[in-house]
Amino acid sequence: MRSVAVVGASLAGLSTVRTLRAEGYEGSLTIIGAERHEPYDRPPLSKEFLKGGVEAEALALGSANEYQDLDVRWVLGRSAVRLDPRSATLTLDDGRQIRSDAVVIATGATPRTIPGSDGLRGIHTLRTLDDAVALRADLVSGRPRVVVIGAGFIGAEVASTAHALGLDVTVVEAMEVPLERALGREMGRICSALHTDHGVRLLCGVGVSGFTGAERVEGVLLDDGRLLPADVVVAGIGVTPATAWLAGSGVEVGDGVLCDAGCATSVPNVVAVGDIANCPNPFTGRRSRIEHWTHAMEQPKTAVRTLLSGSPAVPPAVPPYFWSDQYHVRIQLAGHVGPQDEPQIVEGDVDSRSFVAVYRRAGKEVAVLGVNQPKLFNRLRRSLQKQPGVVTPGRLLS
Ligand code: FAD
Repeated sequence: MRSVAVVGASLAGLSTVRTLRAEGYEGSLTIIGAERHEPYDRPPLSKEFLKGGVEAEALALGSANEYQDLDVRWVLGRSAVRLDPRSATLTLDDGRQIRSDAVVIATGATPRTIPGSDGLRGIHTLRTLDDAVALRADLVSGRPRVVVIGAGFIGAEVASTAHALGLDVTVVEAMEVPLERALGREMGRICSALHTDHGVRLLCGVGVSGFTGAERVEGVLLDDGRLLPADVVVAGIGVTPATAWLAGSGVEVGDGVLCDAGCATSVPNVVAVGDIANCPNPFTGRRSRIEHWTHAMEQPKTAVRTLLSGSPAVPPAVPPYFWSDQYHVRIQLAGHVGPQDEPQIVEGDVDSRSFVAVYRRAGKEVAVLGVNQPKLFNRLRRSLQKQPGVVTPGRLLS
């Protein structure tokens, strides 16, 4: 293998080239990124950066010196539009062609939008630095009423930041219980109470049917007929994996790029990593995409072993992990919570919004949730990791 092209210049793409070099790969490396920015960190976009506490330079994931050492050819501000698997050639949106011996797909996902929001100023999604710059400008422009659609983690963080900026915030959530899919019903209810603790309105079990306003949004229409006056709207309603450019490539896609546990796709010498990769996970025993920072950072180690060895690498059985910062509270989850898993508080109490809960399935610990308890959480996370995982590797690799 003398040349590798990485499509997607963000956390998973950068982590892949770092790992390739660390593993002794000496061939050429090209990174193609649709954004014009060098890789930057996304988590602050809904937190400190949105609040105005840090500037864009502080978000850089690497440095000029490191990039020089990595000896990477950057192609930024350009998208891959086609992959021809027979000749292993990428075509870019300016017509350029890049041939390589292996391709890494690290194109992440793009936010879903709400029908009727096109062309109305003041309606935002949040994924990129440019999105965050535009949203920040709107939040500090003296327009006081913010409606956040979706009470998932991104929506909750945006609501928390807008509240900290002194704005009048309403959160609208279609599900009866926010965060239920991630944390289960009971803990979803407890964690989403952070909004109401701080005087942020939380409307659950109601959808959005449209918007009012001519050029700029003036209100959000709800399914039940209510109209919420709004100067700024943020839709945090999930993402669509960026797979459209792979049409006709032979790379099998479903919810993301379908891979084996070693990140190999249906096309030889093409692997996928990060938010876009839909792989069987040895800890959870499920096939899924994992949209967490730590996963995008770590998973490329497996993909690189697969590429360099030519056979599927077996990933470590590590519980998926994410954190979220809202209203001065750090929420951390390790593992995977299923609908029937029973949480039990093992430390602290819910009323003080400082506790640790352990989830069990058939008597076995499968996840740990920490709310403002980082020390104990981290200890339990490590012990969860020492467990052999929920399924056997044999089943996982089938
Ligand atoms: P991405 O970061 O999405 O990068 C994909 C890149 O590929 C993008 O730059 C995109 O422009 C580019 N691309 C797409 N299509 C093409 C193409 N055809 N050609 C070339 N380039 C292309 N996780 C946590 O665990 N904790 C948090 O607190 C947290 N906060 C977050 C806050 C925000 C606002 C966001 C958006 C995410 C947050 N995350 C958090 C999730 C974490 O940032 C992601 O899991 C991580 O960024 C995934 O990295 P990735 O490289 O797989 O994908």
